[in-house]
Amino acid sequence: MGVRVRFCPSPTGYLHVGGVRTALYNWLFARHHGGVAVLRIEDTDTSRETVGAIEQIQRSLDWVGLDFDESPARGGPHGPYLQSERADVYREVAESLVVDGLAYRCYQSPEELTVAREAARQTDDPAAPTRAHRELSAAAVAAFETQGRQPVIRLKTPLEGATEVADLVRGDVSWENRLLGDHVLLRADGGATYQLANVLDDLHHGITHVIRGDDLLPSTPRQVLLAEALGRAYPVTAHLPQILGPDRKRLSKRHGAASVEEFRDAGYLPEAVVNYLALVGWSYDSTTEIMSVDELVERFTLDRVSPSPGVFDHVKLAWMNGVHLRSLEPGDYGRRLTGYLVERGSPLATRDLGAAVPLVQEKIATLGEFEDFAGFLFRPVVYDPAAWRALAEMPAAASLLDAASAALASLAVLDTTSVDGALRGVCEAAGLKPRVALLPLRVAITGSKVSPGLFESVALLGREESITRLHAARVRLS
Ligand code: GLU
Repeated sequence: MGVRVRFCPSPTGYLHVGGVRTALYNWLFARHHGGVAVLRIEDTDTSRETVGAIEQIQRSLDWVGLDFDESPARGGPHGPYLQSERADVYREVAESLVVDGLAYRCYQSPEELTVAREAARQTDDPAAPTRAHRELSAAAVAAFETQGRQPVIRLKTPLEGATEVADLVRGDVSWENRLLGDHVLLRADGGATYQLANVLDDLHHGITHVIRGDDLLPSTPRQVLLAEALGRAYPVTAHLPQILGPDRKRLSKRHGAASVEEFRDAGYLPEAVVNYLALVGWSYDSTTEIMSVDELVERFTLDRVSPSPGVFDHVKLAWMNGVHLRSLEPGDYGRRLTGYLVERGSPLATRDLGAAVPLVQEKIATLGEFEDFAGFLFRPVVYDPAAWRALAEMPAAASLLDAASAALASLAVLDTTSVDGALRGVCEAAGLKPRVALLPLRVAITGSKVSPGLFESVALLGREESITRLHAARVRLS
């Protein structure tokens, strides 16, 4: 059978970068092997659901370009892909396990269980309380029923032996069955637990490889045993290392943006986010960092996933985004920039930005920097207070502004080369180094001390607008 993997988030909140990394590794693995990637929504616990979460998950995956082959939105031959639509199946399977003697009804109240667990904590059988109702007499059952207690259904976990998996990332892992306890398959309200629904769906969806965060490793033996009780083999597993912040604590909101939508809003490219996330826990070799999605698909193998935690570094991601931005072909850059500004509702979105691309492409690391950095090309100058102060404190500012206006006015043809010559001439005539003498001109034209190339900016703005700005600064100065 061909490779079939699944990404199966619960819609309990927005999809964070850790979730997207799991989705990415599943998708890369499927694409590398020409297999199928399934997106399943695990919405069995409606009390923890967040409004709009399913849409947000789908939007995030679409933005990073992870096109799952089977999903709630796309459908597929193994549907449904929403667990809430399979509640009856889960219940029937749990009941049939009871009939077969592989599972049983447990009438313990949560309070009774807590007390018993507390008492068993220091013994050599701490899981015993979960088995308290394994062998109830018919009379005891009848008594509980009369009291109106709603039972849960628990799996009978073997009391001897061990459950082993050969995890593709963690290697051989083994659990003593006796310590696992009898876990709940069906809640008292008749709803399936994660353990039951997740395993039944993995089997139903023909999943060959379970690739997920290693926080779920403790669930694995329980899921393997449930599959065995159903007479099926559990898929091969690969448990991914956690993602930490630079302080080596679990990555969270505290460390900055934590959802890919925040990176989208800040003007990151999806291919840069994908490239970066691929490397948090996986590497191709010890040096290669910049990779396209196609290269990742070609190179991705699970044997190169590291078992130790990966660190998410915003600085590195911003650097990588800059690399991807600079490598875009200018037409594509312009389209992406416009697309981004449209999404942001920026007034600049309606302008023809093509001519500005060569001025910014080498200089900004995110599309989000464009408005501050190059907005002056498309709207009136707004002086940065510190920049204006630097201009105002320069004794030669007034004469430099006047000389620059005159030099531009006298040019036969105004382009980058002629502006370069004219303004350098102004510096020379004033007996000042360009680094010093261009400052007031830059502030007058761009409003800032940091800007795209001054000569290119003047050429783009044109003679009239440039001279108007030089005059305006001169007037403000006196
Ligand atoms: N719905 C589970 C979660 O979001 C999926 C776990 C798994 O991959 O098995 O944690």
